[in-house]
Amino acid sequence: MKHKPADKIQDLQYFGEFGGVNPSISDSSTYTFLSAKTMFDTFEGNTEGCYLYSRHSSPSNLYLGQALAAMENTEAAAVTASGMGAITPVILQLCDAGEHIVTSRTIYGGTYAFMKNFLPKLNISTSFVDITNLEAVEAAITDKTKILYCEAVSNPLLEVADLKALSALSKKHNLKLVVDNTFTPLSVTPRDFGADVVIHSLTKFINGSSDTVGGVICADAEFINALKDVNDGACMLLGSTMDSMRAASILKNLRTLHIRIKKHSENANHLAQKFEELGLRVCYPGLNSHKGKDIFKDYMNEEYGFGGMLTVDVGSLAKANEVMELMQERNLGYLAVSLGFYKTLFSAPGTSTSSEISEEEQAEMGLTDGLIRFSIGLDNDISRTFEAMKQCMQDVGVL
Ligand SMILES: *Cc1c(COP(=O)(O)O)cnc(C)c1O
Repeated sequence: MKHKPADKIQDLQYFGEFGGVNPSISDSSTYTFLSAKTMFDTFEGNTEGCYLYSRHSSPSNLYLGQALAAMENTEAAAVTASGMGAITPVILQLCDAGEHIVTSRTIYGGTYAFMKNFLPKLNISTSFVDITNLEAVEAAITDKTKILYCEAVSNPLLEVADLKALSALSKKHNLKLVVDNTFTPLSVTPRDFGADVVIHSLTKFINGSSDTVGGVICADAEFINALKDVNDGACMLLGSTMDSMRAASILKNLRTLHIRIKKHSENANHLAQKFEELGLRVCYPGLNSHKGKDIFKDYMNEEYGFGGMLTVDVGSLAKANEVMELMQERNLGYLAVSLGFYKTLFSAPGTSTSSEISEEEQAEMGLTDGLIRFSIGLDNDISRTFEAMKQCMQDVGVL
């Protein structure tokens, strides 16, 4: 029987210092050594179980990292202070000045801005391509390319990356395939299809309570250790370290992730089907009309469904704003960026989370003005929510 990702998290057992059912929180930035020799060895990176300084690692961060590595089926993981604090060191660890990245053009706005506006300062260039067009992806690869970058399911257009095909390309050209799996934790395990590095913003579904930012890098132990190296590790030297208190609280929230993801997916699937029946232009990977549905089905861990994200195009930004304001007024969700909360969140990505992308480029990638991105919440009675949302659409004249 296949060992499911949620079971792997569940099977990890940690006890607190006094037999507590949760591990103790390491409330220290520095650690004492019984011998000076051990301190030297720890700086050299070759003592198991010794802690040096909490920017390097801490017991709480290691617990959370182990659980996330188990979930993503990788050898190791490093937790970071935010999702961007995971993405930026991975890129800077893998790319030197003069080198090149090929990335999907539909990615998180912050990642896009980092590649487009920041990396040129370091003479690292990026080609943005349609990740579903494998010929275009391969054509963009040069002898300077080091990274093939994508999101398993992309933000905000919900394109599905063909991970097996991208992995074959990255092996052929000796690249690292880096996959941001923030939209589909548990549903998709990118490592199983050849990803070298898997990244999450823990801020979203994994933590799920919209009370903190956080990130993780899941990869083989060699890469994770390299990131933490005191001499040239990007995590260690750029300093986007997660605080131990937060690591402990995210680990507790992780315990219910499987239940939440099933509910997010069930609710999103219900709304997507119903919205589509009403004749709205809906994008959801579980719909037959979605271009990437078959690939997603092939990759998905079935029981977690197609995820909690969907988009609806209501025709214009003015209509999108009207509908969102009305839905918020009627307590159907919040007009807010981010995702993975118990409450439905909605925003118009063109003017918010993807506003880093220029208007022409938005048009080219199909990111229209009237697009509303929904992160569907954990509503107990989703048919009641549907009826109320439908009423909002009718009241503003979208239906
Ligand atoms: C939010 C998000 C990020 C960035 O994460 P932060 O925790 O906000 O730094 C990266 N990728 C995706 C897909 C996201 O949704």
